[in-house]
Amino acid sequence: MRRVLNFIGGEFCPPASGKTLADVDPATGEVIAEIADSDREDVDAAVSAAARAFPSWRRTSAEERSKLLMRLADLVEENFDELASLESLDNGKPVSLARRIDVPRAVRNFRFFATAILHTETKCHPMDDGSLNYTLRQPLGVAGLISPWNLPLYLLTWKIAPAVASGNCCVAKPSELTPLTANRLAELAREAGIPPGVINIVHGRGAGAGRALTSHPEVPLISFTGGTQTGKDVMALAGPLFKKVSLELGGKNPNIVFGDADLEEAVAGSIPSSFANQGEICLCGSRIFVERTIYDEFLRRFLDRTKRLKVGDPQDPATDVGALISEAHLEKVSGYVALARQEGGEVLCGGGRPAGLPDRLRGGYYLEPAVISGLACSGRVMQEEIFGPVVTVTPFDSPEEAVAQANGSRYGLSASVWTRDLGKAHRVAAALESGTVWVNTWLTRDLRVPFGGMKDSGVGREGGFDSLDFFTEAKNVCVKL
Ligand code: NDP
Repeated sequence: MRRVLNFIGGEFCPPASGKTLADVDPATGEVIAEIADSDREDVDAAVSAAARAFPSWRRTSAEERSKLLMRLADLVEENFDELASLESLDNGKPVSLARRIDVPRAVRNFRFFATAILHTETKCHPMDDGSLNYTLRQPLGVAGLISPWNLPLYLLTWKIAPAVASGNCCVAKPSELTPLTANRLAELAREAGIPPGVINIVHGRGAGAGRALTSHPEVPLISFTGGTQTGKDVMALAGPLFKKVSLELGGKNPNIVFGDADLEEAVAGSIPSSFANQGEICLCGSRIFVERTIYDEFLRRFLDRTKRLKVGDPQDPATDVGALISEAHLEKVSGYVALARQEGGEVLCGGGRPAGLPDRLRGGYYLEPAVISGLACSGRVMQEEIFGPVVTVTPFDSPEEAVAQANGSRYGLSASVWTRDLGKAHRVAAALESGTVWVNTWLTRDLRVPFGGMKDSGVGREGGFDSLDFFTEAKNVCVKL
């Protein structure tokens, strides 16, 4: 049995309480690891280690920090197969997806920020009397980083890389459901020569370790990715302590297909945007809106492709849809399929347990991708984040109606628009209330662009220089000449 310990001050150590949690393989339901169930005492120790490392790390030149992070990127790449396999084992995602998205992105996150810090610049504001204002951007100290289970290494490194590259030390708390790649990353950070205390990882539950980190008085900054409800708690704890907070929260993203779209491309693009990673991506387009002129044909092609998706063993390279993260989550997602029927919707395919799973996978958490039509936009199924392989399909008659339906949600993370009419694409993109709009694509990510959500999908932007700005404090120096 694997043991996942905390990584504090460059050493692996058990939690002070000695308590542990079971880490379950979603593909089989079997326990695969025992992980530290940390609490305030462990977080205190990690924050102290980070605070001790900070004075020296902030003085380390950008060139040296860059070199160390590039070495870590190389080590992640050298251990590519192992990390992809661990991510699939821990999360239930197809190993092919971990190889295509999760691990390459972790490598890119480190390389991107390791090189970005070599190209920063700040502003200077000269005054009429000759006085000069110039801006210094300085690290804050100990950064608290909290990440979810759906893209474990991808999102953890999206926080660690800019935090540490800009000269902060960090205490990261990965999701208790997916600690394995974070644990391996700690080993690689040590091997890369990152000084002890610069990166600390504390495992455990949100209610214990997560809240202790969010409310810690010596942690001036919290970068959180997770659910909207949890985001409220993070804000409530961090607000009175005047912490700098970035919240990347949930989504209920619209995927709008106009009658003039390249239909085959729109259908092909809507399959991953609906079901990639079992629909457990905050950016998934879980509400599809289709112009009535092509509604029937879109649905025919979309259903045909959905039914052909291979659901099953995450470790099988041919699998398209793996296992959901946990039994509780499977119950929650299945509950929404039942609710859809109660709300008057028609489940056109999927929504049940796939037939013919091998014995080994009997205890796993599988759900056939579900496509649902006939629902009112105001109902719970179309309003609440399901975070599973479940999409709704709804017709519309005009761009105005499509925009109104798309914006009729408390979320505002991302949207996709499929059309050949460029003017319409720009107009609709400008009218949509979401932090990211993709036109004729989905999940095309450039790490330089601002990333974040509007409305209940978050506060603040990360990505590119927005991340470096977030992880540093601007200081104006005014010199009278
Ligand atoms: P949660 O909000 O449940 O958890 C996220 C992280 O916060 C976990 O590490 C969790 O720990 C921890 N946590 C839980 N409660 C608290 C608390 N009170 N204080 C501090 N930390 C806490 O989200 P999920 O892990 O279930 O992830 C899914 C959600 O994340 C979805 O809503 C999804 O949309 C969103 N998400 C948003 C993204 C974005 O970029 N906007 C990207 C990816 C996901 P533990 O798991 O150990 O309880």
